[in-house]
Amino acid sequence: MINKVNIGGIDVAAYQSIDELISSSILTTQGIQPGVGIAINPEKIMAAKNDPYIMSILQNATLRYPDGIGVSYVMQKRLGSKVARIPGCELWERLMLRSVEQQIPVFLLGATQSTVLQTYEKLTSLGVDVVGYKDGYFTKEQEQSVIDEIIKSGAKVVSVALGSPRQELFIFECIKYAPDSFFMGVGGTYDVFTNNVKRAPLFFRTLNLEWLFRLLSQPSRLFRQGNLLKYIYYYLTKKI
Ligand code: UDP
Repeated sequence: MINKVNIGGIDVAAYQSIDELISSSILTTQGIQPGVGIAINPEKIMAAKNDPYIMSILQNATLRYPDGIGVSYVMQKRLGSKVARIPGCELWERLMLRSVEQQIPVFLLGATQSTVLQTYEKLTSLGVDVVGYKDGYFTKEQEQSVIDEIIKSGAKVVSVALGSPRQELFIFECIKYAPDSFFMGVGGTYDVFTNNVKRAPLFFRTLNLEWLFRLLSQPSRLFRQGNLLKYIYYYLTKKI
């Protein structure tokens, strides 16, 4: 039984580790658990508070996990026990590696043509059964043909890197045609995996300061991080 913690009207699942999440909720002994995985961070919780549409997207996901210290800290306080932080990029990479043994067919969607190609090459060299890939720069009119390509590939795991909320909107459309597959929105994960974008150095990560590193290297994120301050304020004043 996986514990869930409600933050601002969103239930987030508490796991001890990334591997526990994968074994209990994605690649179980009964095979792939179909559905939609969404990383939950303070930014999304604050966005959902102001936008019922984003709230419904988050609530419709079948798997919501804490993608950062902001969410896992609040969960830990409420549960009174350890809750693992599940960075989306680490979950994705681990899932890819764990898919090798059972040769689960994987489709990669999103990022630029060169990044998704590099991702495909790196994954196949690791033994992942990538049955298709496609960059994320297509129009609304082309969306249905992208969906058709995914269905035709027979993928059972589909990772979608289009940025939020576009990737989530795409996923909820696509899953109507592929109800037996697991979909995961992965943001900028392929960029990090192919070293086109640097992740925070270990020093920042172990101190749970990945957000500070991002802010320093990309000051334009200040606006987005304003939401983090709001989140902390809402937590302290019990508004979430
Ligand atoms: N991206 C895409 N198509 C678009 C816009 C973005 O494929 O029309 C890709 C972009 O190349 C990047 C990923 O979406 O690899 C995530 O972008 P971002 O870092 O802005 O999203 P976040 O992770 O912050 O949600």
